Amino acid sequence: MTETAIDSATLDALAAIVGPGNALTADEDTHPYCIEMRDLFVGRTPLVLRPGSAEEVSQILKLANERGIAIVPQGGNTGLVGAQVPDETGAEIIVSTDRLVAIRSVDPVENTMTVEAGVILETIHAAADEVDRLFPLTLAAQGSCRIGGNISTNAGGTAVLAYGNTRALILGLEVVLPTGEIWNGLRSLHKDNTGYDLKQLFIGGEGTLGIVTAAVLKLFPKPRSQEVALAGLADPAKALELLNVAQAHAGPLLTGFELMPRRGIEFVLKHLPGARDPLEGPHPWYVLVEISSNSDDIPARQLLESLFEEAFEKEIAADAVVAESVAQAEAIWQIRHSLSEMQKPEGGSIKHDVSVPVSKIPAFLEKGMAAADALIPGIRPVPFGHMGDGNIHFNFSQPEGADKAEYLARWDELNAVIHGIVAEFGGSISAEHGIGKLKRKLLPDVKSEIELDLMRRIKAAFDPNGILNPGRVL
Ligand code: FAD
Repeated sequence: MTETAIDSATLDALAAIVGPGNALTADEDTHPYCIEMRDLFVGRTPLVLRPGSAEEVSQILKLANERGIAIVPQGGNTGLVGAQVPDETGAEIIVSTDRLVAIRSVDPVENTMTVEAGVILETIHAAADEVDRLFPLTLAAQGSCRIGGNISTNAGGTAVLAYGNTRALILGLEVVLPTGEIWNGLRSLHKDNTGYDLKQLFIGGEGTLGIVTAAVLKLFPKPRSQEVALAGLADPAKALELLNVAQAHAGPLLTGFELMPRRGIEFVLKHLPGARDPLEGPHPWYVLVEISSNSDDIPARQLLESLFEEAFEKEIAADAVVAESVAQAEAIWQIRHSLSEMQKPEGGSIKHDVSVPVSKIPAFLEKGMAAADALIPGIRPVPFGHMGDGNIHFNFSQPEGADKAEYLARWDELNAVIHGIVAEFGGSISAEHGIGKLKRKLLPDVKSEIELDLMRRIKAAFDPNGILNPGRVL
């Protein structure tokens, strides 16, 4: 068991709340909760608690608050800013939601689903599908991330263009406050202007204000037809033109528009077993276009064909393939969803989750790639992402043959260059992954003193003893 300054009586009292089997103490059991997928953050904890109800979460937080014990809420542990991983001191205790997995109700008339915080996103998709509805939040980590984590990070993903980010998909929350009080805000109203909308503080709160234990989600009609295409293009300026054409043809039916560079496609073809290039011949850039329609009169296929007719006429797209089957559509999406993971075998990757105004993406990418190459000659840019939302995952793989550790040591230096350009273009240094521990020190650069002060005051009002996710965000 990890060495800790927390006294054994407190550890025993916390463990007793969740009962035998749900309080993990052996290092081999706690380690998977202490390390995130990129190995960027590795911590230690003497105790992982797996409560089975909001009542148990409440007892844990009440005791922790009385005794000043730091608590780290964790869902699927796919967060990319290190907030869900304990630090190296052994003084932080993890509260995992992996037993809070009940789907409490699904209501296709109200178009709502009430779920506990630990339900995996993919399970929510399947439950919505069973009643012919859609829960649109879609991200590459959907097989592991849990809805409480999605809510706490205000996750974005690939469907924001049509449906908004997680904030737009939540009607109500149940939250346990750091003091142990339970707030039952599980309302399913679409209109409720009765004062401050408190749930918004927990959405994107990164586990610093309370532990979400359940939520009422908004469901949508399931599209009657959905089509996916992959286009090959000369450059991001052409991708921007394609976005304009796609929006003109499909409007809100455009449910995906993802930009990818050739280098990323090559990494996937090289490292993902069974992956094949959907287009003949390489193109410098690619766009995945998805259109979803609820109307039999205007099927998605018709919209896709008309938009590409115009795109070819105007010489915007050099080539395109429309998926002929669900399997082919999934294979195209798999390429997109594998981009980040397939950078791993190529060595170190320095990442930026940034956004700029959509119209500025081509100029931003050009300037960012040139500046990175000037700083680290031979660096391999792999910028990809949700172009329709102006959100680029501006990732850079190490130069071929470089030493991984030496390259990663330049993380802050490259961040400073890219974030400086983001500021010039009026963008954000965290489009969807949050602040966590990774970007905490950068917050004063992008928030005014009054914003920071208001954030500190909110934190102090909810968590006067600072026990929940200390050192994250603020
Ligand atoms: P965790 O990683 O466990 O936790 C994340 C944060 O939420 C932490 O601050 C944690 O303390 C807090 N938290 C977790 N559960 C609770 C709770 N019940 N109550 C209070 N606080 C809680 N993100 C995007 O936005 N868009 C993407 O497209 C996207 N793609 C990704 C692709 C991959 C391959 C990976 C690995 C990650 C991706 N992410 C993306 C990031 C990540 O998947 C999301 O942030 C996700 O929402 C985190 O959910 P989780 O359950 O894994 O949360």
